[in-house]
Amino acid sequence: MSNSPETVIPLPQPVLLPVDGNAALFPVRRVYCVGRNYADHAIEMGHDPNREPPFFFQKNPQNLLVNEDFPYPPHSNDVHFEVECIVALKGGGKDISLDAAQALIYGYGVGIDFTRRDLQAQLKKQGRSWEAAKAFEHSAPVSAIVPAERIGHPSSGRIYLDRNGTRAQDGDLSQMIWNVPEIIAELSKLFELAAGDIIMTGTPAGVGAVVSGDRIDCGIEGIATLSLKVA
Ligand code: MN
Repeated sequence: MSNSPETVIPLPQPVLLPVDGNAALFPVRRVYCVGRNYADHAIEMGHDPNREPPFFFQKNPQNLLVNEDFPYPPHSNDVHFEVECIVALKGGGKDISLDAAQALIYGYGVGIDFTRRDLQAQLKKQGRSWEAAKAFEHSAPVSAIVPAERIGHPSSGRIYLDRNGTRAQDGDLSQMIWNVPEIIAELSKLFELAAGDIIMTGTPAGVGAVVSGDRIDCGIEGIATLSLKVA
């Protein structure tokens, strides 16, 4: 504490995620998200499922939600769940090669990219950026990070989401249009990545709306599960 700088306002709290099997925490630097990374979800949203370059948007580290119910956000009547595989980086750089990408991964988790779909539709129509639809408070519930040291680097495995006990999303990591090393390589052309960065890697088909009182159970086979209520 003695070596923290003197600041004119209090230092913002760091964002720290739990790590499965380790009392030490994972500090978050940035949160990147990949759009339309599963063909069947691209189709359900009315887009071409062919392999076009991936596109990215960001959430804020402070939007991450751990071990808490998801509060239904204001300014939307159509909040959708999107279950996604989370990648947590322990290293970074720019122009990272495909071969070098995997060694930069600390671990994996499961999360939800909650989206104010009505706002997103309006912003898309106006050609405006998606922040208001995507980067709202508590919009990204996540599991603990599971070290790759323990589970390896899964390139397949069921990814699913149940709403009130009924399966809504059911896909497999192998269906990603851009796989995880490709995402890291592509992202690093646009941004300088670093330890602490989190990547949400896109959602399979079956996205849908939630209402207050809903129970959500989701997971990825071989990685983690996540359960929460919509408050
Ligand atoms: Mn998403």
